[in-house]
Amino acid sequence: MDDYASQRSRMVTEQIEARGVRDPRVLEALRTTPRHEFVLAEYRQDAYRDYPLPIGLGQTISQPYIVGLMTELLQLKGDETVLEVGTGSGYQAAVLSRLARQVHTIERFQDLAERAARIMTGLHLENVQSHVGDGSLGLAEFAPYQGILVTAAAPKTPQPLLAQLAERGRLVLPTGRRGSQVLELWQRCGDEYDCQVILPVAFVPLVGELGWKE
Ligand code: SAM
Repeated sequence: MDDYASQRSRMVTEQIEARGVRDPRVLEALRTTPRHEFVLAEYRQDAYRDYPLPIGLGQTISQPYIVGLMTELLQLKGDETVLEVGTGSGYQAAVLSRLARQVHTIERFQDLAERAARIMTGLHLENVQSHVGDGSLGLAEFAPYQGILVTAAAPKTPQPLLAQLAERGRLVLPTGRRGSQVLELWQRCGDEYDCQVILPVAFVPLVGELGWKE
């Protein structure tokens, strides 16, 4: 237990469980992942508050509820290979690492990727592999993935992400305009893909070949 354990427990109960996230494995992962380790020192006191925080380079660590919701939508059981696009602080990857067998996470900014990798190594999260590159193209090298989670918003769903899904795999991503999107949940069934719209969200842009231009 660390000094923030009670704040973390309250965050899970009041912000995440109360809004309908119920998967006990997801709630436990959020209760045991030290979010304060992933935020910038000047925001440490705000680490468990109900909003996103700046992490440098114009990027953010997502609101805790959104992390909980997106994670739950993947329905992970523990033996999956998962891709996260948009490593940012590394917090979402750390949560995923407690729920899947192997996590690959890709970030376009080398500085953010290195900082996140350092924090995850410090926490002994050995099943996370960090990559630097354009995640709008996915990460073909380690596909297929049972789960793909994109934490930056694309104008529309990049085709390679759908192609890199395993059978019955799930993709969660925000798509829409800059500043205002919907969260989509895709599920693969053979060559068919089912898409459900979950709720309105606001993410930073996915910048890359199949995302937005700089
Ligand atoms: N998952 C992160 C966390 O837990 O802190 C939050 C990520 S932040 C909302 C979105 C991240 O996506 C930013 O760090 C941004 O640099 C990254 N990003 C944007 N476009 C990208 C791309 N094409 N490939 C990889 N990362 C990208």
